[in-house]
Amino acid sequence: MKIVRSLSELRSAVRELPRPLGFVPTMGYFHEGHLSLMRASRKENRSTAVSLYVNPMQFGPQEDLTRYPRDEARDRRLAEEEGVDLLFIPTDEEMYPPEGRIPGSLQRTRVQVEGLSSIWEGASRPGHFDGVATVVLKLFHLVQPDVAYFGQKDYQQALVIRTLVRDLDVPVDIRVLPTVREPDGLAMSSRNAYLSPEERKAAPRLYQALRLGEDLIRKGERDPQAVIWQMESFLSKEPLCRLDYVTVADPETLLVPAEIRLPVVLLGAAWFGQARLIDNLIVR
Ligand code: AMP
Repeated sequence: MKIVRSLSELRSAVRELPRPLGFVPTMGYFHEGHLSLMRASRKENRSTAVSLYVNPMQFGPQEDLTRYPRDEARDRRLAEEEGVDLLFIPTDEEMYPPEGRIPGSLQRTRVQVEGLSSIWEGASRPGHFDGVATVVLKLFHLVQPDVAYFGQKDYQQALVIRTLVRDLDVPVDIRVLPTVREPDGLAMSSRNAYLSPEERKAAPRLYQALRLGEDLIRKGERDPQAVIWQMESFLSKEPLCRLDYVTVADPETLLVPAEIRLPVVLLGAAWFGQARLIDNLIVR
């Protein structure tokens, strides 16, 4: 496995990789969710590139950028074991070179997917999806993959990226793979590392709330507000859980429908201590 840190090294390394090339963008601290994307890419392509970059542009000023979990040595080992061909680990200076005399400035160009970027996760994390869309488009230009792999775990992110790729005619196939979960249902996430043992015990409740919503819909409930209320009420019974939002939405527009007609997506975000966790479930 080749490890590169500069854009120029990346460009020449990419040219030597046999096509088709699969690409998995990540922020590192790998778990089975990340590894499942690498495995899919390995299976479906002749080469696989992975990026490991905690992108400051997608973090708000009060968010967890500085304490985001990192373990580069372990990530390198895991990527190598998965048969990854190229691991790109850029520095901030490489990705966003400081601009002449303007100290610490990031780049000026931002990619915004309107509408989809400002609701739910986007409402709670203003600017987050602009940061994601910008870095992903930049990475696509640098790596020039044939296929890129994302997790359903970040449902809204995957939708933002699909929309970006469609709207700007980016020649990359987007694949979205199922959420990998712990045995008790908790979606795997690098941020689970923030959970205390008590919070870890409480955290599966977010997924359980989504399952409860799914159950109600399968039993015939067609009023989204009724489903939302039941999920909220279920989450409010867990004292370690501070709900951000839980909702029923159209899978394409992410708007709450007047009446539930399948498919719908159930989306939720909640704090357990210092960890802000998200999850979702598609009801087909
Ligand atoms: P991150 O490092 O958290 O930015 O995630 C990198 C990629 O892995 C994104 O496409 C995520 O959606 C995906 N991912 C994260 N957690 C999971 C999971 N539990 N199951 C499947 N994919 C995941």
